Parts: sequence; structure tokens; C-alpha cells
Amino acid sequence: MRAVRKAIGVDLGGSHVTAGIVGDDGSILGQYEQDIEDRSFDAVIGAVKSVVDSALKDGKAKDAAAIGIGAPGNVDPKNGAILYSPNFMWTGVPLGDRLRKLYDLPIFVANDARCATLGEHTFGIGAGTQNFVLLTIGTGIGGGIVSGGKLLIGNRAGAGEIGHHQIRPSDGFICGCGKRGCFEAQASGTGLLRHAFAVAPSFPRSKLLDRDRDKLGSKMIRRAAQAGDAHGLAAWKNFASDLAIGLANIIAFVNPEMIALGGGVSSAGDFMLEAVRDRVEELTTMVPRGSTQIVIAKLGNDAGQVGAATMAFQGGLSPN
Ligand SMILES: [Zn+2]
Repeated sequence: MRAVRKAIGVDLGGSHVTAGIVGDDGSILGQYEQDIEDRSFDAVIGAVKSVVDSALKDGKAKDAAAIGIGAPGNVDPKNGAILYSPNFMWTGVPLGDRLRKLYDLPIFVANDARCATLGEHTFGIGAGTQNFVLLTIGTGIGGGIVSGGKLLIGNRAGAGEIGHHQIRPSDGFICGCGKRGCFEAQASGTGLLRHAFAVAPSFPRSKLLDRDRDKLGSKMIRRAAQAGDAHGLAAWKNFASDLAIGLANIIAFVNPEMIALGGGVSSAGDFMLEAVRDRVEELTTMVPRGSTQIVIAKLGNDAGQVGAATMAFQGGLSPN
């Protein structure tokens, strides 16, 4: 049996950071996690260092070959600087270089959703496909596109920013990026909650949104819809309609064999797939219908770590 090579795969999100000890067969040998409360660059470096140190101290990480970091925002693939990240409100921070001062191992940084796509394509539901798209649907929508077996990077590492194509530029919600009606603003978990607020005047007796603002979440809207609540269902219908528009657009752009839905909102599973399938077919006009499967992703929260480590094994992402 061949020896498994190991790398540390870090998934850096807005609210927590996880470091996994990942084998080059996609196995996770250990995981360390920490919450992020302070989003300043120095505090986040401290949180990343804490989980990476814990992982490296673990005996299972012995002889780790590299550290791969998946971070939100636009990442310079050459040096791992974060050029722009609205989640952290960072512009031009040298994430890769700061971490290189702390560790002797090679360090590679790439966008978190692109890393998750690489993980899901190499070891998850997309394994064996040549043309594959992952959407991570949570607070926002991240994406990644594999075409002809290769993860698309784009000219300045911007390929795959599917969350920021506009689907309702005139009547949509304002997106975190500043535009109106981005796919992310309409069809993320945050989007579902916004749809619930938007239709609320039609349901004056609904108690769905009667709670503290910090206790409001997209999951309760979805659960209400599943339980047949009229207000929940109306929000869910508008959300699913917007999700279907984005999915049909992706099919028109790249006609993948498979679009996998990951991220927290995808825990809705079949309820979500059934809500969009027919509408996606209707909106698919020029591409042969049924030529793109829409499925739920397989690796769940681990996709980011597995993908970040896979990216590090490959020596980072290089423009194609
Ligand atoms: Zn946007």
C-alpha cells in the first residue's frame, strides 16, 4: 500500500476557521476549529495560526507537505494576498506572506468556494465528471466551475463568481457587493429570509418573523414551508424561482454534466431539488434539456478543507 501524503487544509469563513489534516486520498485524519469574533486582519491571522498549530502538533500531521488556505474573496494566486473580501471588509491584505513568516511549509491560498469545488470534484459527488459546477449556498453563494476536467481560474482569479451575476437588476435585493439583484442576494439563505420579509405584508396574521432579529434564520423559513405554512411557502416559492433562474443561466453558460448544491441551505435536500427542477427545465431553451443533472453535494462542510489541501498538493491554482 502506498503511503498517504498529508497537507493541512484550512477553511476560513466569516464566523469560524477550520484546519483539517487531509490525506491526498481525500481522507480527513483530524480537524481543529475556532470561532472568529474579531474580523480584523491581525485577529484572523491569530485564529488561523491557532488551528494550524493545533493540527501540526497532532501526530497524524507528521511530515505534512504543505498548507492550503481557502479564504473568501478575490485572491492573488501568485502570493496569496486577499485583494478584496467584503465578508472581512479587507482590501489588499497579505494573507499568504504573513503566514509564510510563521511556517516553514509551502503555503498556498485560493478562494474558498473554488477550493470547495476542487474538493467536491476530486473526491465528492463530482468525481469522474469533466464538466462540473459547485454552488455553496449559505449566507452567500460561492461557486466554482470545472470545464474539460480543469477548475477555471480566469484572468485574475475571478472565474466562478456565480453569486454575483445579476438575476433581478431592477426589482431585486441589494447585494453585499453593492449591486442589486445578484444571484447571491436572491437565492442564498439570506435571500430566503429577505423573501420572507418581502411577502410578509400579504400575511398579516403570520407569526413566522415574530422573534428577535438575531434568532431569525433561513432554516426556520424552509421548515415552515415544509410544514405547509402559507407565509413560509410564499417565501420559499420566490426563493426557488430565483434559484432556478441562476441554475438555468449556469447551464446556458457552461452546460455542465452536473451542478452540485452545497452549503448550509442545501441541507434542504430533495425539498430543494424538487422546488427548482421543473422551472430549470422550462428556462433551459438552447441547451438540450436534461443534459445537466442537479444534485446535492456530498462532502458537506468538509469540502473546503479537503479542497484547500488538494489545491496545496497541486502547488496552488495556476491560471489556465
Ligand atoms: Zn453581488
